[in-house]
Amino acid sequence: MSHYQAAPERYDTMQFRHSGNSGLQLPAISLGLWHNFGGVDSLENGRAMCRTAFDLGITHFDLANNYGPPAGSAEENFARILEHDLQPFRDELIISTKAGYNMWPGPYGARCSRKSMLASLDQSLRRMQLEYVDIYYAHRWDDETPLEETMGALEHAVRVGKALYVGVSSYSPEQTTRAAAILRSMGIAPLIHQPRYSIFERAIEDGLLSALETAGMGCIVFSPLAQGMLTDKYLDGIPLDSRALRSGVFLKAENITEAKLSKIRSLNDIAKQRGQSLAQMALAWCLRHKQVTSVLIGASKSSQITDCVNCLRSLTFSESELFEIDKIMAG
Ligand code: NDP
Repeated sequence: MSHYQAAPERYDTMQFRHSGNSGLQLPAISLGLWHNFGGVDSLENGRAMCRTAFDLGITHFDLANNYGPPAGSAEENFARILEHDLQPFRDELIISTKAGYNMWPGPYGARCSRKSMLASLDQSLRRMQLEYVDIYYAHRWDDETPLEETMGALEHAVRVGKALYVGVSSYSPEQTTRAAAILRSMGIAPLIHQPRYSIFERAIEDGLLSALETAGMGCIVFSPLAQGMLTDKYLDGIPLDSRALRSGVFLKAENITEAKLSKIRSLNDIAKQRGQSLAQMALAWCLRHKQVTSVLIGASKSSQITDCVNCLRSLTFSESELFEIDKIMAG
């Protein structure tokens, strides 16, 4: 039983941006359930984080078939979070999921064939106990499947009402342009691209952002905090409850090198001068592009979500701040 009462002021401070040319607005900050929402994690903590997020105007929750661990369990837990807390607000929520990475045994449990994409979507809907998702993604480029087939599967998901919008993740500029053209030829507007982007990973500046603008697509960037490195949490050693020690699969303690820490310290100094936490500055820095619709954060505690949302208080950068950040990264 839930006694959750959503904060009446939840839309007072969040900013919303249109995803490309579409009518759909996303919150400038979205919450991803890749880490800390699996079967191995505390459901109560996951519930608290989703409630905090929603109370702050975060209407968008991002999942994938394989989020956990174990794979699938983040979607199952999200069903519980909906049941306990968020179900009354379904029409205020944008829920996404994806398929493409390893999910079940055999040749159909991964990649982006029509068979895999549509079977996986049905599984995700069952796990989340939803009739439809708001955004369905091809999670990865699949060089073994014709792009027409993958886009045809996305189109079908929309036609049968199992997805409202579709997107792609981690496609190159050329792949994105082709995907958008194929979808349009089928009468479907491509909504959004989900690439990696942060002060540490700037590849999307080399062509993807302009390709998205041309295609009229939005952009929601994942790992904008470089999995936690672009925060102050690693400045005095590696905390026991951090991703680098707790999970250690995607972010390893050995990734946090002295060279990286020296850049993090310098970036932290700029953030302090701006009156922000480093996490807030790192998010504002991603949001400076007009093509970036939303920054897709992860969190292990509710207080981190509150800290992140407060980036909205200071989104603009002076030329000299941007220059200093570039200089630190080039050094
Ligand atoms: P981030 O770069 O935002 O890293 C999140 C981590 O940063 C948290 O788990 C926490 O680390 C730390 N953190 C967050 N806020 C703060 C804060 N204010 N102060 C200090 N530390 C903070 O994003 P993720 O890498 O988690 O990715 C976000 C989402 O993007 C995923 O959940 C998923 O939805 C999506 N994604 C998509 C991919 C794709 O292929 N399409 C790939 C990867 C992610 P700690 O846990 O150590 O406390």
